[in-house]
Amino acid sequence: MTTTIKTLHEWGLGNGERPLLISGPCSAETSTQMLTTANELQEAGIGIFRAGIWKPRTRPGAFEGVGSKGLRWMQRVKSETGMKTATEVANVRHVDSVMGAGLDMIWIGARTTANPFAVQEIAEALKGTDIPVFVKNPVNPDVDLWVGAIERLQTVGIKKIGAIHRGFSAYETSIYRNPPMWQVPIELKRRMPGLPLLCDPSHIAGKRNLLQSIAQKAMDLNFDGLMIESHCNPDEAWSDKNQQLTPADLKVLLNSLVIRQVTPEGASAETLEELRSQISFLDDEMLDIMQKRMEVAKAIGRYKKENNMTILQPKRWEDIIESSLKKGDERNLSHRFIDKMLKAIHEESISKQTDIMNEGMEDQ
Ligand code: PEP
Ligand code: MN
Repeated sequence: MTTTIKTLHEWGLGNGERPLLISGPCSAETSTQMLTTANELQEAGIGIFRAGIWKPRTRPGAFEGVGSKGLRWMQRVKSETGMKTATEVANVRHVDSVMGAGLDMIWIGARTTANPFAVQEIAEALKGTDIPVFVKNPVNPDVDLWVGAIERLQTVGIKKIGAIHRGFSAYETSIYRNPPMWQVPIELKRRMPGLPLLCDPSHIAGKRNLLQSIAQKAMDLNFDGLMIESHCNPDEAWSDKNQQLTPADLKVLLNSLVIRQVTPEGASAETLEELRSQISFLDDEMLDIMQKRMEVAKAIGRYKKENNMTILQPKRWEDIIESSLKKGDERNLSHRFIDKMLKAIHEESISKQTDIMNEGMEDQ
């Protein structure tokens, strides 16, 4: 058992095995929705039930949660299924209601973590309590702000603190709702090695088909657990419907995960697996960057077409090669490698731009 999994187990969360699993709907909607989902999750082997009672929404007018009556449904879930219960708190009033209802775990949402005043008030309201508190990353990729929120809780004497990685808001379009930027949680873990760290693939993905690969990556990076949204009827969910799974589909996803150990029996701490997972993670980042680069190349192609410019602009290409070779030197990358890599990228850009130039030609 790793130290952090042992810590979670001591807090009454999980069975001492990785990953710790938390699931349930984005929002509490009705008592039937809560109980049906919880019963199905319990059958699927999930020990901790989540539901949002108060929902921070980006735009006004969206469903903002059922409010404290949802806490009574949480209590029923707890007594009827034996599951532990968890919800989000965003202010002192939420803390007081949740403590009164006897829930087992709370988390501070991404928008709240970004606000030091709000976190300070929540920390003070929690003073003297024993409930495990999980801090989601702030919406912006600022590891200091994340650490700062955790420190505010530590300063008032709270001992059971964990973190949840849920990705970061982005202006650019991406396949993710909130791009994971894995280097940020990795840095948090480096700074606070004893802190249990969970991943929330649902809010990173924003859609079902990405959940499995994100969850697997979190496992490969040795995260302690997963919080994944589920709903008895996801297509009818009142919030985040594209990213919620049925409990049965969640079970399929969980069964597909390969759970690797940091140090298998007889292996040294710096195992090959650990290094390989770092390589895979970096390769994936590189592919994401390539995708973005090709989108930009296409935009340039459209510009060139509209302005009747040639695809190949030799001066520009020479400049790129020259400055990249220099940057490569600073990074200890050989000229031969830089040259080959840039040529391959350039070839792909040119082919994307050629497609754009030729668009509509076959009709003429
Ligand atoms: C949630 O967990 O439903 C939620 C609102 O998450 P976040 O704070 O990560 O957006
Ligand atoms: Mn949600």
